[in-house]
Amino acid sequence: MTFVCDQCRRAVNGEQHRTATRTLCRECFDGFRGQAAGLMAGGGVPNAISTAGWLQRVREAFRRDTDAGGAGR
Ligand SMILES: [Zn+2]
Repeated sequence: MTFVCDQCRRAVNGEQHRTATRTLCRECFDGFRGQAAGLMAGGGVPNAISTAGWLQRVREAFRRDTDAGGAGR
């Protein structure tokens, strides 16, 4: 099955990998997954939906950290 990768814009004949918002070829998906896995420091491979939820949690955690950090003010 042929599709167009949303990241590199190539027409790819083979596996397609869906993220929360895009369809990627295997190469681009590996890069995408590598970034997430690096941040997760060794969990499993998250699927698109849990990745989105997880990212939101990280953002909230960072924000809370910054707010509670008490940098004066
Ligand atoms: Zn691609």
